[in-house]
Amino acid sequence: MTLERERLDADVLIVGAGPAGLACALHLAKLIERHNQAGGQPPLSAENIYVLEKGREIGAHQLSGAIMDPRALTELVPDWEKTAPIESAVTGDAAYVLTSSRAWKLPITPPPLRNHGNYVVSVSKLVKWLGGLVEKAGVNLFTQFAGARLIYEGDAVAGLFTEDKGVNKDGQHKDNFTPGYELRAKVTVLAEGPRGSLTKDVVQRLKLDGLNPQVYGIGIKELWEVPAGRIEAGYVAHTLGWPLDSSMYGGGWLYGLGNNRVSVGMVVSLDYHDPRFDPHQAFQKYKTHPFIRHILEGGKLVRYGAKTLPYGGWYSMPRPYAGGALIIGDSASLLNSQRLKGIHTAIKSGMLAAETVFESLKAGDASAAALSAYPKKIEQSWIRKELRAVRNFHQGFHNGLYAGLFHAGIQLVTGGRGLIDPMRARAGHEEYGKIGRVEPPQERFKGDGALTFDRLTDVYHSGTRHEEDQPSHLLVTDLNICIERCSNEYGNPCQFFCPAAVYEMVKADGGWKPKINASNCVHCKTCDIADPYQIIEWVPPEGGGGPNYEGM
Ligand SMILES: Cc1cc2nc3c(=O)[nH]c(=O)nc-3n(C[C@H](O)[C@H](O)[C@H](O)COP(=O)(O)OP(=O)(O)OC[C@H]3O[C@@H](n4cnc5c(N)ncnc54)[C@H](O)[C@@H]3O)c2cc1C
Repeated sequence: MTLERERLDADVLIVGAGPAGLACALHLAKLIERHNQAGGQPPLSAENIYVLEKGREIGAHQLSGAIMDPRALTELVPDWEKTAPIESAVTGDAAYVLTSSRAWKLPITPPPLRNHGNYVVSVSKLVKWLGGLVEKAGVNLFTQFAGARLIYEGDAVAGLFTEDKGVNKDGQHKDNFTPGYELRAKVTVLAEGPRGSLTKDVVQRLKLDGLNPQVYGIGIKELWEVPAGRIEAGYVAHTLGWPLDSSMYGGGWLYGLGNNRVSVGMVVSLDYHDPRFDPHQAFQKYKTHPFIRHILEGGKLVRYGAKTLPYGGWYSMPRPYAGGALIIGDSASLLNSQRLKGIHTAIKSGMLAAETVFESLKAGDASAAALSAYPKKIEQSWIRKELRAVRNFHQGFHNGLYAGLFHAGIQLVTGGRGLIDPMRARAGHEEYGKIGRVEPPQERFKGDGALTFDRLTDVYHSGTRHEEDQPSHLLVTDLNICIERCSNEYGNPCQFFCPAAVYEMVKADGGWKPKINASNCVHCKTCDIADPYQIIEWVPPEGGGGPNYEGM
């Protein structure tokens, strides 16, 4: 039976209200306003810009460290300092190498980790503020709606369907069933952040892949309230080393926010070799280091979250346009992994996409040829200069920390070229070593309940909530592979890499089978990325579900 869907037509549909999507909407609305004031033809309207966000409110799914380079925000909102919710200007920074008991301060902070002139922000608060500006500019912003499926016309994108609401676990319609909308648009801008589900679809379907496959990291973060005097607002420390071993790429951070709050977190590249490595547990261990412990002890966990980030950079950038579509921000691989910063490039790419869309609307041409102006704008902008200089950075760490630091040094003096250019990369899920059959652990990490926590306690602090009676949004295409192959080859890494206890192995029929607790999902997308057989597909659940990263 075909469903009757309400159809709405927009000029521009922006999927995702993160820094990239909101910057695109705001800049485009301003361009339209100026155009109309100058009597430009055809008249355009900001009301024909629609922004969709799957979170329950703007900012609910935003998780970052975060230190913001204000460069792009200054271009977007020149007087942002008057109203933007900034925690603090960076007042001091330092870099440390950790061993299990000591912290060695580097005599000079390496240039990529210097943050003078940058700001400590809560990205969740920042996008909430940006969202307010976008709404004030007349744009239609819809929260609790996910882009579920793109509409194609040949090789062009013509819009999307939003998710159906009110479907039960078995796929039956409940009393509150509402079919998703058919949203048609001249241009659909994909601003879904890392591993966007629609972006993945269009990249695969139209073969838009970059030179290298994308390689992701997972970031795990907690927000703490600590006793007064422990850390100065604006103090920024980055760490390398323990508890990660030197074969792994990643590190930790500690940022002082206002009101005695601390952002503490760790990022790990999802190309490690041990399939039983557990990023959540590694992060919990990290907090027990004397250097971190003495800041947090006696304090209180306020919030928890986890999210992936695209490390691949310039050479993993997909072709960011197709007929009727543009890809921006993290979805377009525009994060600078050397600096662990993507807010500024996301904003800038949103602005460049807005300029491209504006020209396309004026010309009445949203063909691939017309939208190919967008990557040219990226090439001519400071994004190119910044990302080209680190184009081989992450790849240099393929053989571990020491080789990576060696390559990074050479890349620094050769403008990013290094010894090999381009350095190639493999997708992270291909990097696991086979370990044979290993029984699932009898007991999982519990934490002490004061400084360290088990995953369920952390999930509780992420504010995650989903409608329980809905189909699982984590589609495992072949459970037999989990039971028969993965158990015997990799020991089911899903039960370790998921930072939200979504995947468990439970006893069944004399063996083990996966149990999927989809309602715990914090939308980090690690499972879609890190499954060794690529048989887990993350699709958006009913809009409004997921974490609530308020203040993160
Ligand atoms: C742990 C961590 C620490 C970081 N630290 C820093 C830092 O210190 N400084 C810095 O500059 N950057 C940092 N970053 C990177 C920065 O957060 C990102 O580069 C930036 O948020 C990218 O913006 P975006 O708009 O492209 O994507 P996102 O911020 O990911 O926003 C995408 C939005 O799209 C929504 N969405 C996705 N799919 C759909 C769909 N199908 N339908 C509807 N909505 C959808 C999501 O819910 C989300 O709100 C960090 C990232 C992480 C994970």
